[in-house]
Amino acid sequence: MVARNTTIRDRHRATLRAKKLPCAICGEPIDYTLRWPDLDCFVVDHIVPVDLGGADTIDNKQPAHHRCNREKANKLESSILRRSGSLR
Ligand SMILES: [Zn+2]
Repeated sequence: MVARNTTIRDRHRATLRAKKLPCAICGEPIDYTLRWPDLDCFVVDHIVPVDLGGADTIDNKQPAHHRCNREKANKLESSILRRSGSLR
């Protein structure tokens, strides 16, 4: 497990939150007053997931609903599983 700099992550989260942009995945507005684990709350989505080599930089981050972020993660996970399964 690689140690991650939470200070930078917190700053990125605050920057994205301050912009009050709509969800980058579904395009619907985000209610920034909702709190985790509400499925409609704001989360930081990595455009290219860190697990797939994505950078932990603001350029690789976008705002998303918790719900949309989870769906994206599930889809990525199943496609990765399929890909790695086909290699065997
Ligand atoms: Zn969304």
